[in-house]
Amino acid sequence: MNHQMYGGIDLGGTKIEACLFDANLVPLKSRRIATPSTSYPALVDALVAQYTWLRTLAGTDFAHIGDLPFGIGIPGLIDPHSGLSRTANLPASGMPLRADLERRIGFSIPIENDCKCFALSEATGGAGAGFETVFGLILGTGCGGGICHQGRLVAGHNGLPGEVGHIGLPAYRKALRDVPALLCGCGRTGCFETVVSGPGMRALAHHLTGADISAERIVALASTGDDAMRRVYDTWLNVLCELLDVIQLTIDPDCIVLGGGLSRINGLAGDLSHRFALRRLEGAEGPTILAAKFGDSSGVRGAAMLAAMNWNDANRRIAKG
Ligand SMILES: [Zn+2]
Repeated sequence: MNHQMYGGIDLGGTKIEACLFDANLVPLKSRRIATPSTSYPALVDALVAQYTWLRTLAGTDFAHIGDLPFGIGIPGLIDPHSGLSRTANLPASGMPLRADLERRIGFSIPIENDCKCFALSEATGGAGAGFETVFGLILGTGCGGGICHQGRLVAGHNGLPGEVGHIGLPAYRKALRDVPALLCGCGRTGCFETVVSGPGMRALAHHLTGADISAERIVALASTGDDAMRRVYDTWLNVLCELLDVIQLTIDPDCIVLGGGLSRINGLAGDLSHRFALRRLEGAEGPTILAAKFGDSSGVRGAAMLAAMNWNDANRRIAKG
């Protein structure tokens, strides 16, 4: 008999999603509330409110395990050295978010970057199931990722593994000669994110054609044979292939799972697989490139998975005595 349940919370720039999962990580019920955009205390209150909702919904007697295990995915990271959070679009940067939440809730909570939650979720029961090393690559309003090796996230010294959006574009590659050098949100110029993200595709279109047009529209026009937009999409694919090359040369995953808004581009995984075959280091076998299985819900699922893994690890330690 297993009454175990897990909670996941996905903290986003505009909404906070909470979802209760059963023991097999099947979602039972979820709730979204707006993210307080300016006040840090209000943000902490909102996260505690989502936890309380999950705890009430679970309704089980948790006395035997302490409490409902739950995890949180955030658009940023908790600095493993200072314990302070770093987020670009939330009123939590430089704040002790984990410590403040644990004080309010009363037990330790796994908090992880949302791209890493995505990678963990897709590697475990998702599109990347059965592969040894899964790279989860998010292409949305930004570009980020996470690495899951043999079912575990690679944590790194700073929590940075997978943050490939801030690698600089290789200036000497012929395929990139039409690509502009743009200022990135991280403060540097010429990061991959400035081109491969959704806003990046828009900036690329502006640079190449002068048009101000959304990524969605660029892709739609390119698919109907519009020459100018085909050139934009083609250049964008070339840049993405350069990024895949960097990922292969540094991590060499056997699977790359695509997530984020741009991953919904029809046939993208196939286009990339085909094009990357022509580009990569001679003799290297390509990774299997796939679209995400859980899509937008992979973040909250990965957060719950972190909670489940923590809980299982703790129980193993107890069982071992
Ligand atoms: Zn950057």
